Amino acid sequence: MKQRIFGLENEYGLIFSPNGRIYLPMEKVLGYIFEGLIPNSWPSNAFLVNGARFYQDTGCHPEYSTPECDNILELVTHDKAGERLLEACLPAAEERLREEGLSGEIYIFKNNTDSLGNTYGCHENFLMRRDVDFWKVTEQLIPFFVTRQVYGGAGKVLKVSGKPQYFISQRAQHIHEKTSSSTTSSRSIINTRDEPHADAERYRRLHIIVGDSNMSEFATYLKVGTAALVLSMIEEGYAVHGMELEDPVKAIREISRDPTLKKKVKLDDGRQMTAIEIQQVYLERAKDYLDRQEHEPILDDVFDKWADVLAQLEDDPMQLTHRVDWVTKKHLIQSYVDKKECGWDDPRVFLLDLQFHDVKRTRGLYYLMESRGLIERVVEEEAVQRAMSTPPQTTRAKVRGDFIRFARAKNRSYTVDWTYLKLNGYWEETILCMDPFSAANRRVEELVAQVSGTRFYR
Ligand code: ATP
Ligand code: MG
Ligand code: MG
Repeated sequence: MKQRIFGLENEYGLIFSPNGRIYLPMEKVLGYIFEGLIPNSWPSNAFLVNGARFYQDTGCHPEYSTPECDNILELVTHDKAGERLLEACLPAAEERLREEGLSGEIYIFKNNTDSLGNTYGCHENFLMRRDVDFWKVTEQLIPFFVTRQVYGGAGKVLKVSGKPQYFISQRAQHIHEKTSSSTTSSRSIINTRDEPHADAERYRRLHIIVGDSNMSEFATYLKVGTAALVLSMIEEGYAVHGMELEDPVKAIREISRDPTLKKKVKLDDGRQMTAIEIQQVYLERAKDYLDRQEHEPILDDVFDKWADVLAQLEDDPMQLTHRVDWVTKKHLIQSYVDKKECGWDDPRVFLLDLQFHDVKRTRGLYYLMESRGLIERVVEEEAVQRAMSTPPQTTRAKVRGDFIRFARAKNRSYTVDWTYLKLNGYWEETILCMDPFSAANRRVEELVAQVSGTRFYR
């Protein structure tokens, strides 16, 4: 598939730290955050004018799902826009609490585990052709996803048998299966649930739940970009043979536990390889594909950055503090431990680990590094700000965004999902939007023209 639709879902961690001893149900805090995003409603599930979805997932986690993007950089922009929207809700939510006589601070974290050992996800979505053999493709994707954490991991300090240990991925220890249709009970490397949000005869949606949420724009870009590249090459017949892992679940955990990246995992054929070596096999195959097949130009850039990062990881991972989250965080904690002359089991270390993911830019440690110019950005902040209220202009998200803007301007209630739009009570007809590549819909354009007072020609 030459052109593809992408989407990223992030569940966020939420903490309320009260001034004084009070108990407040987290639902209430979440409700105040929702109010900031969707005034006058508490549906706990809503689509926004930028085409994104914002809802409460299991547990008290706000979830932001980006609108459909057809470009990886745009996806990075919209993923950041989700963070900014949540950050922007904080002052009003805290003000609402003060009105009730409850002062305190709300924290929103873009991470994947809480202090009780619960996990929440970051889901990647890739549109796929229906006519390629899903099972063959997934078999080849598994070793890639098991090892991608070397640049996609967000890092985590965990106590193992009482001793602090640094893991490169937050999510890896919570993966229990190779493939499964569930996203919560038996988390897997490949999620097989078949919900294409598009014409099911033509498409599937590959739903990947194994990755960490990233603070680093570069890491998001590379994580999704390499997956898109590998998926394209496999779809086009550039298979990667003989890389099946003996026990992928064991391998993903072992790799995660070794920040030196030297750990070798077992393949089915008895060989042993490091995560970087496995990634390099995929990289080589991607080169064949890019050299011989017509492809999206951005994939050349993904390839170059991928090659670069693997070489640097091989040489010394600590060269990537400006690009890879687990490395940035490890560097930050190591500097702190050195300065304070404390151990990695110091309670402040666990706090730093959490604060790295704070989405409030004047407080979060990732953003502290960014503000000092120590982090490489891949998108413009202006574009991120625009994406908070503007949908991608080349996908179905534009139709949805225009429709929602219209409904709000007219003060109409509406029901929207990825594949349909409906104005409640007024114009009962449902507008189906099955093609995620289609950024135009005549019936929505008519409605929009009506609200802006211009006549509709075409
Ligand atoms: P769950 O909440 O259980 O994860 P879900 O996977 O349907 O359900 P949503 O949170 O609704 O998840 O998010 C769907 C994501 O898929 C969004 O980011 C959206 O942009 C993206 N998406 C929608 N349609 C397609 C498609 N046809 N192909 C690829 N991605 C899509
Ligand atoms: Mg979701
Ligand atoms: Mg999902």
